[in-house]
Amino acid sequence: MKKVSLMGATGSIGLQTLDVIREHPEEFKLTAMSVGKNIEKARKMIMEFSPRLVSVQYKEDAESLSREFPSSIKILHGEEGLVEVACHQDADVLVNAVLGSVGLYPTLQAIEAGKTIAIANKETLVTAGHLVMEAAKRKGTSLLPVDSEHSAIFQALQGEKEKNIEKLIITASGGSFRDRTRDELVGVTVHEALNHPNWSMGAKITIDSASMMNKGLEVIEAHWLFDMPYDQISVVQHRESIIHSMIQFHDSSVMAQLGTPDMRVPIQYALTYPDRFHRPGKRLDLVEIGKLHFEEMDLDRFRCLAFAYDAGRIGGSMTTVLNAANEASVALFLDNKISFLDIERNIEKAMNAHKVIHKPDLETIYEIDLHTRRLVSSWL
Ligand code: NDP
Ligand code: MG
Repeated sequence: MKKVSLMGATGSIGLQTLDVIREHPEEFKLTAMSVGKNIEKARKMIMEFSPRLVSVQYKEDAESLSREFPSSIKILHGEEGLVEVACHQDADVLVNAVLGSVGLYPTLQAIEAGKTIAIANKETLVTAGHLVMEAAKRKGTSLLPVDSEHSAIFQALQGEKEKNIEKLIITASGGSFRDRTRDELVGVTVHEALNHPNWSMGAKITIDSASMMNKGLEVIEAHWLFDMPYDQISVVQHRESIIHSMIQFHDSSVMAQLGTPDMRVPIQYALTYPDRFHRPGKRLDLVEIGKLHFEEMDLDRFRCLAFAYDAGRIGGSMTTVLNAANEASVALFLDNKISFLDIERNIEKAMNAHKVIHKPDLETIYEIDLHTRRLVSSWL
């Protein structure tokens, strides 16, 4: 039995991780979990899964849960709690499905504690990929991708050698606004942006998909996970989300991973790797689908993707700025405080205002992250 520690249990990836655990009661046991503010859901989860450790975002919520549950369930809060969940002594694997760069420090701590990490939390790799990868290499940690594109690449890489890769081809559904011109993006509402054609995901990543920043973050994520130069990472629009990504090898052969869009597949693969367990659910029927489409990405229309390539190539602290400006701007957009196109304007302005620092340490990353968020708020 594999004991699982889960950060971000109440989110879209968190809930689907719990589905996988529920479907395989003989194979997996939830031993620790963290949530943010959603205490109602947390209560139900504690009753169903009886984890040994639970962490919530706020102290008051931790206190009220502590009164409700027996003292055998340890209840913590804040960053300290997240770190304890990340490093829980019983856990064989940590699923990091928390949202945003708040996942960075617990991830670094989990690496130091020798945990295997199934990583969905892409912002952690974007904001400080060099620190995470350096620590993982030093400790011999396995970072197993959960993001569907990176899982596809990881699956296509089995039995292959990384040195034989010519390029990675990441597919993009195109998000909610793939068929709109730039003019048609003026004044789009939060409701419209949240209406993703293929995937049901958390609000932030759905907005990132609409702005194409999600693909930008994924390019940077792929750079770190597969040690690939940016010139060897390409993105192609593929509206059906059936091919989840591809590897082109030096001999011109291309390996792809296909499947119906269901995040439980890559989540489960990260938990069962190198094995595969049965999954219930719909099988891919290519005859039913009939046609798959591929289109070139328009970097003038999807400027966030261009900014992400720029930030990645500049390197150092620039990706921290890209991520923080994006996180802050998406939160403001979701709160109806700025327009959709303000997201990319803010990111461009924040990047232009930043003097890059090469190989920033953790403290510098935190300073730049905070400074960038404050800068974005000051433009309101
Ligand atoms: P959600 O917004 O649905 O969930 C985020 C989770 O993180 C929730 O459990 C939330 O708690 C918790 N959380 C948020 N902020 C804090 C905080 N400050 N402290 C503690 N906990 C916090 O996000 P998703 O599940 O969509 O995404 C999670 C990560 O996975 C992201 O990095 C995303 O890019 C990545 N990802 C997601 C995919 C998807 O299909 N959803 C696909 C590929 C990658 P609560 O709700 O209780 O407040
Ligand atoms: Mg993805």
